[in-house]
Amino acid sequence: MQTGNINVKTENIFPVIKKFLYSDQEIFLRELISNAVDASQKMKTLATLGKTDSELGDLTIEVKVNKEDKTIRVIDHGIGMTAEEVDKYINQIAFSGAEDFLSKYKGQDAANIIGHFGLGFYSSFMVADRVDILTKSHTDAKAVKWSCDGSTQFSMEDLDKEERGTEIVLHVSEEAEEFLDEGKITGLLSKYCRFLPIPIRCGNKTEWRKPEPKPEEAENTDEKKEEPKEEKVEVPNIINNTNPIWQQSPSALNDEDYKKFYHELYPMNFEDPLFQIHLNVDYPFNLTGVLYFPKVKNQLDLKKNRVQLYCNQVYITDELEGIIPEFMTLLHGVIDSPDIPLNVSRSYLQSDANVKKISSYISKKVAEKLESMFKENREDFESKWDELKVFLQYGSLTDEKFYEKIKDFYLLKNTDGKYFTVEEYKNLVSALQTNKDDNVILLYAANVDEQNLYINAAKEKGYDVLLMDGFLDAHAINMLEQKNEKMRFTRVDADVIDKLIEKKDEVTPSKLSDDEQKNLKEYFTKNADEQKFTVMVESLSETDLPVMITQNEFMRRFKDMEKVSGQQGFYGGYEHYNIVVNGNHPLASRILSENDEEKRSKLVQQMIDLALLSQNILTGEKLSEFVKRSFDIL
Ligand code: ADP
Repeated sequence: MQTGNINVKTENIFPVIKKFLYSDQEIFLRELISNAVDASQKMKTLATLGKTDSELGDLTIEVKVNKEDKTIRVIDHGIGMTAEEVDKYINQIAFSGAEDFLSKYKGQDAANIIGHFGLGFYSSFMVADRVDILTKSHTDAKAVKWSCDGSTQFSMEDLDKEERGTEIVLHVSEEAEEFLDEGKITGLLSKYCRFLPIPIRCGNKTEWRKPEPKPEEAENTDEKKEEPKEEKVEVPNIINNTNPIWQQSPSALNDEDYKKFYHELYPMNFEDPLFQIHLNVDYPFNLTGVLYFPKVKNQLDLKKNRVQLYCNQVYITDELEGIIPEFMTLLHGVIDSPDIPLNVSRSYLQSDANVKKISSYISKKVAEKLESMFKENREDFESKWDELKVFLQYGSLTDEKFYEKIKDFYLLKNTDGKYFTVEEYKNLVSALQTNKDDNVILLYAANVDEQNLYINAAKEKGYDVLLMDGFLDAHAINMLEQKNEKMRFTRVDADVIDKLIEKKDEVTPSKLSDDEQKNLKEYFTKNADEQKFTVMVESLSETDLPVMITQNEFMRRFKDMEKVSGQQGFYGGYEHYNIVVNGNHPLASRILSENDEEKRSKLVQQMIDLALLSQNILTGEKLSEFVKRSFDIL
């Protein structure tokens, strides 16, 4: 038996590490499994190169939880270590790694560091009072047992072990007893090790299987056979898929394969993705992955499932803010790169050259994919647009460069369900919808049912109306106006039809004198809540409606934008509408000639209520009053 002092200057570094990593204790398992996988991969390589006499055999890594003796064991059949190697890699290198770690991160906030600490083997002391390493090298060196109780002292002795590989025994500490639960360990393995390249087993699971047909039965094929009953069998519980799709060659994969993997990644999501991009770069950095475009319809869909970051198939995190462009975090899928520095703080990460390259590479790939889809099959692209739109809007709103990349296939959809690029649409409507200031006015509706009246009025005039009913549309409209000179958006109910697009030569003369207009305005003002409504008398065509409710485009738009960002700002509590009275309508003359004040007031109220009703803003008591009044009149 040999004992020694680990070559560490800092006395008792473990209590510090333990405390520091307390919130992320569970990563010990990921670290130990990573080591076991590395050792197994090395063994495979040696075998293929013919550089070992040892039989490769079954490389399955086993994790055993034993509640009685309070141990967790991680057993591999990798290359193992000789006594010299244990001394070199564990006593010297690994410990100095721990020391480095401490000097680097002393005084830093643990939350500021991504899940991977590069602490490796020593993270096992976060959950164990004592750790043993039982290992037999693939060479003919003797097996060795190393043991350490978390102080800077260790012991090493020869061991009787025939089987090649390493067994790490964690004597779990009292505070960490929650880990002595097979269910918990299986859960952690599924989180971190789901796609590692060597099979990992934890206990057994039950499966229903048809029994194997007996040979003599198989011969009598003429006889009618009963379907054999399924029976319950215990089978090894293998945690991982050792060949995840992102490691495979795209040419060997089809859409179904990608969909299947999507559901494997997000078992609780039953929707298929829209499409995917397979990433594969080896210069100037290494990165593989598959990014899926989910179907996004509303805000609740966002950020439910996240892109997962892996490092050589080891799960690291799904908090990718700062690593990929912000809007890309709305995508789903997997990115695997050994070139993203993991043991650094997020603020450092954002300025890292590799991370910047990776981020712009992904952004470029995404834009290229969209462009080729648009060019190769526009119809298909259009069919996906409604569910893709939010993503492109979010991207353009948060990253100007991204808008530049996608602007040629950013689509607008009209209320007839037709799609246009912005350029196409401007050309389509400019002849009829250019106003006196030479701005092309794009009319839009946010709700086809509620704004039906206004949409029809616009269409009758030969205008086209866009549909803008997405939850980011208010923001997108602002952005599109900024990006496109001489192009303005106006919602169909922002003004009466003749004023929606003000032309140079179109003025309808008024039939009313100035005094009559003044009186008319007064009658309506008396009957409307001044806080909420402004009354305007306009000279419109006789065939236009007698009264309409409009809402100023900008006030309404800012209010909509506030709603999306969840702020209760300046415009929030402010519901204000215009009551536009058509002075040229026969009803206007009737009101003016009505001398009975009560009758006139009833008529005015009825007209206002009808206009409110058509905008869906007549509710509650006001609505009941209206119904009662209508019956009275009948
Ligand atoms: P890292 O894995 O980052 O190098 P560790 O502290 O986890 O750091 O491990 C130190 C070294 O110990 C490894 O590089 C490897 O050489 C050796 N080692 C650890 N675990 C095993 C194992 N299960 N089988 C063989 N060698 C191992």
